Amino acid sequence: MTPPASTPPPDQTDLPGRARVVIIGGGVIGCSVAYHLAHLGWTDVLLLERDRLTSGTTWHAAGLVTCFGSTSETSTGIRMYGRDLYARLEAETGVATGFRPVGLIEAAADVERLEEYRRVAAFQRHLGLEVEEVSPSEMSDLFPWARTDDLLAGFHVPGDGRVNPVDLTSSLARGAKNRGVTVREGVRVTDVVVADGPAGVGTVTGVRTSAGDIECEYVVNCTGMWARELGERNGLVIPNQAAEHYYLITDTIEGLGQDTPVFEDPSSYGYYREEGGGMMVGLFEPEAAAWSVYGIPPGFSFGTLPPDWDRMAPFLEKAMDRVPITHEVGIRTFFCGPESFTPDLQPAVGEAPGIRGYFVAAGMNSVGILSAGGLGRVLAHWITTGRPDVDVTGIDVARFRPHQLAPAYRAARTVEILGTVYAAHPPGTQLRTARGALLSPVHQRLVDQGGYLRDVSGWEGAAWFAAAGRTPEATPTWGRAPWFAQWEAEHRAVREDVGLIDMSFMAKLDVRGPGAGALLDRVSAGAVDGDDGVITYTQWLDDDGLLEADLTVTKLGANRFWVVASDTAHGHALDWLRRAGHGHDDITITDITADWAQLALQGPRSRVVLATLTDADLSTAAYPFRAAREIDVAGIGTLCTRITYVGELGYELYVPAARALEMYDALIAAGAAPVGLAALGSLRMEKAYRDFGHDIDNTDDPDSVGLGFALALDKPGGFVGRDSVLARRAAGPAHRRLVQVVLADPEPLLFHAEPLLRDGTVVGYVRAASYGWTLGAAVGLAFVSADQPVTADWLASGRWQVDAAGTRFDAATSLRPLYDPTSARVRV
Ligand SMILES: Cc1cc2nc3c(=O)[nH]c(=O)nc-3n(C[C@H](O)[C@H](O)[C@H](O)COP(=O)(O)OP(=O)(O)OC[C@H]3O[C@@H](n4cnc5c(N)ncnc54)[C@H](O)[C@@H]3O)c2cc1C
Repeated sequence: MTPPASTPPPDQTDLPGRARVVIIGGGVIGCSVAYHLAHLGWTDVLLLERDRLTSGTTWHAAGLVTCFGSTSETSTGIRMYGRDLYARLEAETGVATGFRPVGLIEAAADVERLEEYRRVAAFQRHLGLEVEEVSPSEMSDLFPWARTDDLLAGFHVPGDGRVNPVDLTSSLARGAKNRGVTVREGVRVTDVVVADGPAGVGTVTGVRTSAGDIECEYVVNCTGMWARELGERNGLVIPNQAAEHYYLITDTIEGLGQDTPVFEDPSSYGYYREEGGGMMVGLFEPEAAAWSVYGIPPGFSFGTLPPDWDRMAPFLEKAMDRVPITHEVGIRTFFCGPESFTPDLQPAVGEAPGIRGYFVAAGMNSVGILSAGGLGRVLAHWITTGRPDVDVTGIDVARFRPHQLAPAYRAARTVEILGTVYAAHPPGTQLRTARGALLSPVHQRLVDQGGYLRDVSGWEGAAWFAAAGRTPEATPTWGRAPWFAQWEAEHRAVREDVGLIDMSFMAKLDVRGPGAGALLDRVSAGAVDGDDGVITYTQWLDDDGLLEADLTVTKLGANRFWVVASDTAHGHALDWLRRAGHGHDDITITDITADWAQLALQGPRSRVVLATLTDADLSTAAYPFRAAREIDVAGIGTLCTRITYVGELGYELYVPAARALEMYDALIAAGAAPVGLAALGSLRMEKAYRDFGHDIDNTDDPDSVGLGFALALDKPGGFVGRDSVLARRAAGPAHRRLVQVVLADPEPLLFHAEPLLRDGTVVGYVRAASYGWTLGAAVGLAFVSADQPVTADWLASGRWQVDAAGTRFDAATSLRPLYDPTSARVRV
């Protein structure tokens, strides 16, 4: 690709002194945000670009617009919206985008990928993407240059295609300018100015630039690979890191035209499309190279990187083998440019924790062109209304933690993460690099007991235990793995006896002060400020009555509370509470996650085991379900809550980190079996306990996901979102409900994103699933939409099936938990 001609920066004397929104960065993302803000009527918008539009990464992108490949509803929606926009943008703006819906063929070369792509195809079809499975010979018909004799099948998406990234960006910018947005090139933002507020929440007031200061209410950091450095100036964690990213373009190949489909063979690390009459061969090598870990060099514009031929040669060879003609013609260009990747391959999007008005859209992980249209729409909606209209739990910038900024962490993870784009993803696949950042206080014991470690938001958690002295081993698979035996035994230990689960990764917030009770009661939909010594399971809602968090609040004393949320919700829950507490000087909110271990002692014999280590009266009369007491256990001062996430009699013990190992050993010595997170998952799924960010998210209201029982609608003073909940109830029973699903056949497994059918029609999909060792079959939570209220009768009157990789399995559905629906086992 040739960089667009550079011209000297224009005169900046007419730079406005104020704008409502300043967008920083004129790549495809910044221009899309500007375009969509303008379409929503926000035209007092100024886009500032340091150099020229597209001068960062956008100018050299390959321009693939390929929607296939995601099992996320948000991501699929973003991709499909963008593809549709690119097809019609020229008609609106008069500026061509170069979009060509030439079609995509995604090749499956092995059984793991075939299984995965069949699942993806079924899911994305349900969301409206046209995709069909094709045979190797049909692939050859569509793309005759590829060798297909060793491929198993392909997936053809006729509407996918390619775009010219520079033209697309110009077209978006033109669309924004036509509606009144101001675009200024040659202006570098040096700082975002934030007025500090109480409770650690600041407010954006403006930006400093190379051409003077500008006041504004909102900034949108769309600076691509520069986003981390700019964010760090305001203490933000946006841990994206640039990596070398490659393609080559061959000399002209006769008969290769612009309407040739895009072909991808992830097993060969390559994608292939026509470019200037030659073949572009793009690469996602399994081991990549981070670039410029300590910061982007000053003045890097329309930049390229010197290709590392030695490192890339084996991958290149393999990619070219798939399309042999590429070996025969000469290579016109071997291109390397930087693209930034995040530690989990999801973008950093949304309002930054701790700063009102500071929005981010960066870290595009090689799909920024594909995602720009949809992300621009999502962000513009978020900015103008104050909340997102899609599930953002997986892309929220608040999910990152400070350790992810460390150069060593970024350098290590980036090597691996780029390669995961084209890797197979059978269940159990793990990231190997940048591990061990956060260790539980009982970590050594998890290792000693043969724990198979897995990443839990940067913490190391034990998925299951191979037993002391044994090395745990697991090969990712779509089928049943040998370690299922340990998983089943641990699951049964909790159901029938007693197990101990280290959950120290849970987020813990200490909230105290004279106003703490009132604040938490206002934010929580449940009644959390009642008697001392009570733990309450509750949700936090926004003004629209939609979920913001799903957690527990424990009242320890008049002015002393603990909030405990899942690891994935850590940043958002903390930020939500800090924002709610903004201006309340009498409240302190402290993140105490690392100071306290959380050990879950669960199972019918948990009381007996605990009783051997404490003098406290544990009888139900003295220590009922939901009691939270500070008691001595094994001689250690412990906050012991009688609560469960597995559906049995059980306790969660909060122990000072320094004494946690001692406590863990004491509980094991007293008879508890070590139990891992795989069993935690299967136990909670049988009981249909929800997990925010997995089976429920920010687009759901509590009634539709079966959490109406947790609402305290009558509590004095109400709560945030109450009016919206009541209005929704007044409108009648929900047509969308989260339901539990269990297969009739004990053999098949469910994971996530399997379409759910009623009487042969797809009515939803499985949001999260596990295997129910007690129920005796795979079990999941699925969201169902209907043209009538989703009631128990309606569920009972249909024939239910789940589509797993194209095969339909009979299933039963239920609004009530299939395991112990009355919770009798919890309250014994
Ligand atoms: C080889 C290669 C092939 C690719 N192929 C594809 C593909 O086929 N499909 C796809 O979807 N994606 C592809 N990508 C990825 C895609 O190019 C990026 O995801 C996308 O361009 C990122 O856009 P952006 O707007 O976030 O960043 P950028 O394009 O880098 O834009 C950020 C802008 O911010 C400006 N800026 C930075 N700091 C400041 C500041 N302080 N003040 C003012 N301005 C500032 C920069 O100058 C830059 O113009 C490819 C990437 C590479 C490297």
